[in-house]
Amino acid sequence: MSNPTQNCSDFDNSLQSISLDRLNTLGLACRAKRVLTLTSLSQLAQITALYRDHHDLFVLGGGSNVVLPAELNRVVVQVALKGIALVEACAPDQDEADRIDVAAGESWHDWVETATKSGWLGLENLALIPGTVGASPVQNIGAYGVEVQERIESVTAWHIPEGRLITLSRAECAFAYRDSIFKRAVPGTWLIVSVRFLLPKRWAPVLTYPDLQKHPRLAAMDSEDVTAQQVMDAVCDIRRTKLPDPAILGNAGSFFKNPIVSATVYASLKQKFADLVAYAQPDGSFKLAAGWMIERAGWKGRRQGAVGVHERQALVLVNYGGAQDLELLGLAQDVRSAIRTQFGVDLEIEPVVVSGAAAVT
Ligand SMILES: Cc1cc2nc3c(=O)[nH]c(=O)nc-3n(C[C@H](O)[C@H](O)[C@H](O)COP(=O)(O)OP(=O)(O)OC[C@H]3O[C@@H](n4cnc5c(N)ncnc54)[C@H](O)[C@@H]3O)c2cc1C
Repeated sequence: MSNPTQNCSDFDNSLQSISLDRLNTLGLACRAKRVLTLTSLSQLAQITALYRDHHDLFVLGGGSNVVLPAELNRVVVQVALKGIALVEACAPDQDEADRIDVAAGESWHDWVETATKSGWLGLENLALIPGTVGASPVQNIGAYGVEVQERIESVTAWHIPEGRLITLSRAECAFAYRDSIFKRAVPGTWLIVSVRFLLPKRWAPVLTYPDLQKHPRLAAMDSEDVTAQQVMDAVCDIRRTKLPDPAILGNAGSFFKNPIVSATVYASLKQKFADLVAYAQPDGSFKLAAGWMIERAGWKGRRQGAVGVHERQALVLVNYGGAQDLELLGLAQDVRSAIRTQFGVDLEIEPVVVSGAAAVT
């Protein structure tokens, strides 16, 4: 395995305008002013120099959680740093954890597969999430009962304005539901170069999510006999049947976060909608299933021009082909208005909405 800090190639000095149509899973038409591919840490100083020369920067991973504008008048830095390095292994008889550094440009799913096969367990519930390792802390990716923050020890990032590498502990990353210090910062502030995972030797499958409990292969087993590979395979099966493949139908996964409301709001909604789907949170609040609300409001499967709400998964907005950001955001606005009117709840957009010269979430 290579060291993430040593996988270098020479800096490509050619800054060129490029189409990002194929570099975002929604398949939105987008032309960027300039694109740099970051393959080596030695390029970082030049990125800060560009920033100081008044260039507006945008950091891009796999493009699976962004809504890009038709014209992106910024320098796009595409992170392609590679490498996986075991930095500290614990002896098999010790009840401790392995520490593994993974470079930001590694494919997230490939890393999960490598980890599972190498006996670094605890990531299997997050299999098949598109995108890069570097983006995983940005919105604290989560699926099937696990959030990535539970497996991260620290994140090393280049602070672009200050021009220095900083290692942030898990606490300093200020992780929350689909959120972190990186997602809240002004875009172009942080460039994550690597993530240190802490994967404990003592492993037990996380099977709290109903779809996993119902999965035929897992349901037939005693949970003590279930392996990480079997959990990963089940997660992949479920995701393939539930979610549209972006290679076939443009999408960014869940387009809205599940809103979190107080116990009082939940109780009053439950009175009106007996079949309301919600999950109790440890702090007493409730996470409402946005997909259920969208379906209940009659938006599941609805199409507006080149965009629509997916016919099987109401939380996913899709591009049938040829859509631009404004058409998609128009649909999102209509869905949000409908949910506000019917349930009195505000839906928040999950992907990062990027404007031509600045990004907002
Ligand atoms: C079919 C599908 C299913 C999905 N399922 C899930 C799911 O189950 N759970 C979930 O949480 N998400 C899910 N997503 C969303 C998405 O895959 C994740 O958010 C993923 O982590 C985004 O990675 P990316 O490399 O594509 O990031 P991008 O889309 O390229 O970028 C997303 C944000 O991260 C920033 N960023 C990217 N790389 C870096 C870096 N190295 N340093 C600093 N900032 C960076 C970008 O500036 C941007 O703000 C899904 C998406 C799709 C298309």
